[in-house]
Amino acid sequence: MKRRVHTDKEHDLLQKLKRENDKLKKQIGALRKQLARIDLDDYNNVKELLDKYYYEDKLEEREDILEKLKDEWKCLQCGTGYLEIVLYTKQGNPWYFRKCTTCSNRTKAQKHNPNVKGVLKGEKY
Ligand SMILES: [Zn+2]
Repeated sequence: MKRRVHTDKEHDLLQKLKRENDKLKKQIGALRKQLARIDLDDYNNVKELLDKYYYEDKLEEREDILEKLKDEWKCLQCGTGYLEIVLYTKQGNPWYFRKCTTCSNRTKAQKHNPNVKGVLKGEKY
């Protein structure tokens, strides 16, 4: 069987491919080492950080809503407090009235319905 002899051009190309291959192998090795360094602790730290940012974002949103509601129900008698919703039951039905947080101003009691808006007394935001 006649042995195939590479031409110079082919030989150059093979050498070049071999060098490229070695370079890629080295790069893969380096990347593997980097990946191994990213452990679970890092992952959890990142997750915690993201959760924290997300929570603070939402908290700000809730405070915004609360401020708007307080402004909407600002007490016209004293001008400093705001009217809070005081919920109670009357013959098994939910009733409510609004009462100022600083003075004795309060509204007449009415039946509560889901459309009643305002700051609920004792509600945590
Ligand atoms: Zn008031």
